[in-house]
Amino acid sequence: VPEPAASSRAVLSVCCYCGTGCGVQIRSQGNRVVEVTGDREHPSSHGKLCSKGMNLAATVKADGSRILSAQLRRHKNEPRQPIALMSALTIAARVLADTIDKHGPDAIGFYLSGQLLTEDYAVFNKLARALVGTNNIDTNSRLCMSSAVSAYKLTLGADAPPACYEDLDCAETVFIAGSNTAFAHPVLFRRLEAAKARNPAMKIIVVDPRRTDTCAIADLHLPISAGTDVALFHAMLNVMVWEDLIDRDYIAQHTEGFDALKQRIHDFTPKSAEELCGVPAADIVQCARWFAQSKSTLSLYTMGLNQSSSGTAKNAALIHLHLATGQIGRPGAGPFSLTGQPNAMGGREAGGMATLLPGHRDPDNAAHRAEAAALWGVEQLPQTRGLTAVDMFDAVLAGKIKVLWIAGTNPAHSMPDQTKVRAALAKAEFVIVQEAFAHTETLAYADLVLPASTWPEKEGTVTNSERRISRVRAVIKPPGDAKSDWRLACAVAKKLAAKIAPAKAALFNYRDEAEIFAEHARFTAGRDLDYSALSYARLEAEGPQQWPYTSARTDSVRLYQDGIFPTASQRARFMDIGYTPVADPVSAQYPLRLTTGRLRDQWHTMNRSSLAPMLTRHEEEPRMYLHPVDMQRYRIGEDSLVKVTSRRGEFIAPARRDTGLKPGHAYIPMHWGSAFMAGDGVNALSHSVCDPISHQPELKHSAVGLEALNYP
Ligand code: SF4
Repeated sequence: VPEPAASSRAVLSVCCYCGTGCGVQIRSQGNRVVEVTGDREHPSSHGKLCSKGMNLAATVKADGSRILSAQLRRHKNEPRQPIALMSALTIAARVLADTIDKHGPDAIGFYLSGQLLTEDYAVFNKLARALVGTNNIDTNSRLCMSSAVSAYKLTLGADAPPACYEDLDCAETVFIAGSNTAFAHPVLFRRLEAAKARNPAMKIIVVDPRRTDTCAIADLHLPISAGTDVALFHAMLNVMVWEDLIDRDYIAQHTEGFDALKQRIHDFTPKSAEELCGVPAADIVQCARWFAQSKSTLSLYTMGLNQSSSGTAKNAALIHLHLATGQIGRPGAGPFSLTGQPNAMGGREAGGMATLLPGHRDPDNAAHRAEAAALWGVEQLPQTRGLTAVDMFDAVLAGKIKVLWIAGTNPAHSMPDQTKVRAALAKAEFVIVQEAFAHTETLAYADLVLPASTWPEKEGTVTNSERRISRVRAVIKPPGDAKSDWRLACAVAKKLAAKIAPAKAALFNYRDEAEIFAEHARFTAGRDLDYSALSYARLEAEGPQQWPYTSARTDSVRLYQDGIFPTASQRARFMDIGYTPVADPVSAQYPLRLTTGRLRDQWHTMNRSSLAPMLTRHEEEPRMYLHPVDMQRYRIGEDSLVKVTSRRGEFIAPARRDTGLKPGHAYIPMHWGSAFMAGDGVNALSHSVCDPISHQPELKHSAVGLEALNYP
């Protein structure tokens, strides 16, 4: 192995894509990233990387892909011009101050991203609530994990995934619902594949309208009709009750509410679920038996359950199966939601969502508001409920929010019902877009652009799906005027404080990320996620750590091993929930159920992943996947151009035959938007009806119609 050149550096950090949170070693020469390899010592990934992680070095470019300076447009119909960063920060502060003065603090909205680091979130949250005085701070994590969060809180008492990655190695049955793990969390999938190879008796069940690559290792695939998961899970519980497969002792000692749910599920027989869900009753029975009778059952789930108008109910109905069978708090057992984004967990820990305060506190709880205010050193925090993602853009459209500050996310592609979202962005009086990449759809609506640094130019921390906090480390300097997201937020905060509350300027006197983390960690003391004993020094000395991490640390990686839950009664709760159909019903005009998903080699709206040529080879353009039966029905040939229409918009793409798709369903990858194709992207079709508890929109189901535009 040749010695590295004298000018080269290497740091340990974390892959910036998915919530698996794989450890990486980044090697640079001069100010160039030359190599990214897996970190063998990282306890979550042991040196493994997927294609996205392996191609990270190719995405760090100086070829026009980055925003190098601040930009301003003085009038909506003029192009933006570069301006000095100091002037841009002053303008941002002035716009915020004027808006607070004229319309009040709730005329401002902050829309953040699960790509931001915990330290970025912490500073933005303090800026929004403790200085501006609004709870209008939400994040694209609302589109990702909020249903999982709501269900964990309602059933188990806290937003805390109870399992860990080691459970993949020792589970006897793995129940995967609404997750194409092979594409969305590839390193976890490989780990599961290896566990199955070691233990061929392991049973793997996949619930998905498509026979995805994840089904390659499945013993049973249930090709469910999109949106009917609650009926399936209730029917499984019905079988467990009927065949006496439930754990009566666990239910009696550690839970409450089972009798009401038992009444509720009475009519959800395998036969009725077969009709509703479109899967054979015998398979439902088999599935229930494997789930309940195995020594350890682990469930993996993500967007297929979360992105739904009944996302909380779907998550809760799955958690019920674990509580009813005692499949929780033991090695290889538990309901394990896989986080989509690299730091959706850390964002929630820092309270960077309308429905949260730092340390998993509740902004509707006066005592929690008082605690957070005291920790920040301010008199009080705002009481008015903050607006969640979809409501925030609706409020812009209604003229209630005048100024939007968007950081590290691309709502002009990723939000549902693009016609509405783009109208809102066009109507906003002032849009600040803090962004690293030069080609996002949202930049078209920016009045002021703040140049952000990005991986691998930033220092901070992220928390992955198994509650593990890792250091993100900088190895190169950011290009041009780009700065860390927290530094940009801090600089504007100080200027704003000087105008509206000079004493509060001191709230933003951070020297570095370690100081922000130390303040943030104090917010967790005594809370379910307590990592008040963790610091940058400890992370440096001990490597990535899972929470809780207190001074009385017991090295526990699994939660609820003692059967005690953080609820008032210390018991987990069964929720009396029914089945609610999808919000956008199929009809004669829109007869197909459209679902969307990730490709193996792309990430979200492709701002970063499209920069690596190797990654675009997997799929070079968006395709509309259809079952051959439906292609014949609509007289569509392979590669025919198809116009897909929903009640909200249209999308044009070539058709592709997919025998693994359930007839009556259609599938389009989520990644392409107007930056890479004609039209508004796949979210021109989706709708913005949200789960009433989690406020997560139903991105996973839209009723669509088809029209063939040509015949190859
Ligand atoms: Fe990165 Fe996720 Fe792939 Fe790991 S599995 S290398 S975190 S994209």
